Amino acid sequence: MPINGFEADDLAVCSYRLPSPVQPWVSGIHIGRVLEPSDDPAAWNGHNSERDYCQLTNQVPVAYCQDDPCQACQDQGGFRQYDYADALTKITAEQAALPLADKVRLFLGEEALARYQQALGPWPPNPRAERP
Ligand SMILES: [Zn+2]
Repeated sequence: MPINGFEADDLAVCSYRLPSPVQPWVSGIHIGRVLEPSDDPAAWNGHNSERDYCQLTNQVPVAYCQDDPCQACQDQGGFRQYDYADALTKITAEQAALPLADKVRLFLGEEALARYQQALGPWPPNPRAERP
């Protein structure tokens, strides 16, 4: 059942979790996977279900960086959050699998990519050689 326009297993990025276009090499690009909220009030607060909460607040449960953690999430293995539906952008599996430099261009723009290239060296970069 959709939740605020998203289906479970949709892939998404959250605008306020993206790195700054001014310093795109700081922190990682977290790729989220939408979770199915529970319909069971007993599992939430006894009155409303997790789905009620999400609908009331226009939020979506998202698990970030579970399948292929970004550099910033490699130690903790990702995280789970409720994020506002209007801050989430659906992406395709192909987009999620792009090298980091291509994600910088796609999500943050050409100027951010230029700064990223300047900071990290020649194009095309080796995604295995990412530096924090
Ligand atoms: Zn991450």
